[in-house]
Amino acid sequence: MSASSTPDVAIIGGGVVGCAIAYRLAKSGLSVVLIERDGIASHASGNAYGGLYATFGPGMPGPALDVAKRSIELHKTFDPQIESESDIATEFRPSRSIDVAFNESELNEINENVGWWESAQLPFEHLTPESILELEPNLTPNIVGGVRHLSHYEVDSYKLTLALATAFERHGGTIRSGNVISLAQPGEITLASGASISAPVRIVCSGPWAGTDEIAGMPELPIRPVKGEIIRLAFPGDDFSHRVVAGRPYIARKPDGLVWIGTTDEEAGFDETASASARDSILAGALSLAPVLETASIVQHTACLRPTSSDGLPIVGQVDDGLYVANGAGSKGILYSHVIAGWIADSVLEGSDSVPPEFAVSRFL
Ligand SMILES: Cc1cc2nc3c(=O)[nH]c(=O)nc-3n(C[C@H](O)[C@H](O)[C@H](O)COP(=O)(O)OP(=O)(O)OC[C@H]3O[C@@H](n4cnc5c(N)ncnc54)[C@H](O)[C@@H]3O)c2cc1C
Repeated sequence: MSASSTPDVAIIGGGVVGCAIAYRLAKSGLSVVLIERDGIASHASGNAYGGLYATFGPGMPGPALDVAKRSIELHKTFDPQIESESDIATEFRPSRSIDVAFNESELNEINENVGWWESAQLPFEHLTPESILELEPNLTPNIVGGVRHLSHYEVDSYKLTLALATAFERHGGTIRSGNVISLAQPGEITLASGASISAPVRIVCSGPWAGTDEIAGMPELPIRPVKGEIIRLAFPGDDFSHRVVAGRPYIARKPDGLVWIGTTDEEAGFDETASASARDSILAGALSLAPVLETASIVQHTACLRPTSSDGLPIVGQVDDGLYVANGAGSKGILYSHVIAGWIADSVLEGSDSVPPEFAVSRFL
C-alpha cells in the first residue's frame, strides 16, 4: 500500500499498544497506516521498565489475573517471532525477581499474597535473609526475609515497540508522522497539517492523551496520566542481576549493563520532565536497599506518563461503527500489548468480541 491510497485501517499512536495492533493487522494482510505525532516509542512505551508479571497490579487477584498470565504466554510466543521479523532483539527473558522486607510487618504484607500466588500457579520460593545476601551480597544486611518469583519475565520496552513497528513496516504497513485533531467525520481522520486520511477502521491508541479533548469526535474516556520516573546508573560489576524490590523502590541490572532504579507514581498532569524531587526519592529508596550504590553515577533519568483508567484496567473495544479505542493500560501496557492487539484483531478481522467485560470500553459508554 502506498501512503496516499486509502488504507483499510488507520491507527493513532505509535506506543506499544498501537504498534502491537498495527503489526497484527498488517501481518493478517490488511493495509494499515500508523499515525504518530512525536516518534515511535517516544513516551511511556520507550521508557518503561518492561516487567511482565501477574503477581501484582490492578485487578490481581481478580479479573486481570488470567489476562496477565495469558499475556506472558503471548510474549513467550510473539517476542521471539517479532525479533526474527524485525532483526531487533526485544531482550525478552525470565526476570530474576526478589521481593524483600525490612521488618516483620513488610514480611507479613508479602506473605499475605502467597495463598493466591499458589492457587494461581505463579511459582515462588521463600528466602531467608542469609539466602538473599548470598544471591545479592551488595544489599543491606537489614533485610529480614523475602520471596523469589519464578513466574516473572521482562523485555526492553523500547526495543519491543521498535521491533513491532519495524516488523509492521516489513509486512507492508506505513508509518506516517502527524498530529490527529479530529475523528468527527465517519471514516475520516484529520491532521493538524490540514491533511486528511480516509479509513473504514480507525483505532485510537493515543495513551494518556485519550482522556483529553485534543481529538474532536473522541468519546469521553476516564483516562489520566500518572507520571513515573526511572534512573539508570553506571555501577561496575555484575551484581543486582536480580530485580530486588522493597515495596516501591527497586534495583535491577538490565541487559544494557546499567542498574535501573525506580520509581514514582505522581499525579502531575502532562508534565514529562524529570524532576529533582523524584531523583532524590528514587535515590533514597535505592540506597536504603543497597548503600553501595552511593558510588554509582547517574547516566540517564527519564520521566513518562502511564495512561491510567479510573478502575486501573485497560479500555478496549469498538465505540462506534469502525471506531475503536485501545488505551488505559496504566502500569501494565507492555504486559498487555499483545493481548489487546489480539482482542482488536478478533473484532476487526472476524467481527467477534473477545474483550472480557472488565476490560471492555462498554463499561464506560
Ligand atoms: C516509569 C514507568 C514504568 C513502567 N513499567 C512498566 C512495566 O514494567 N511493565 C508494563 O507492562 N508497563 C509498564 N509501564 C506502563 C507502560 O509503559 C504503558 O502502559 C504503555 O507504554 C502504554 O502504551 P500506549 O501505547 O498505550 O501509550 P504511549 O506509550 O503513551 O503511546 C501513545 C502514543 O500516542 C501518540 N499520540 C497521542 N496523541 C496523538 C495524536 N493526537 N496524534 C498522533 N499521535 C498521538 C503519542 O505521541 C504516543 O507516542 C511503565 C510506565 C512507566 C511510566
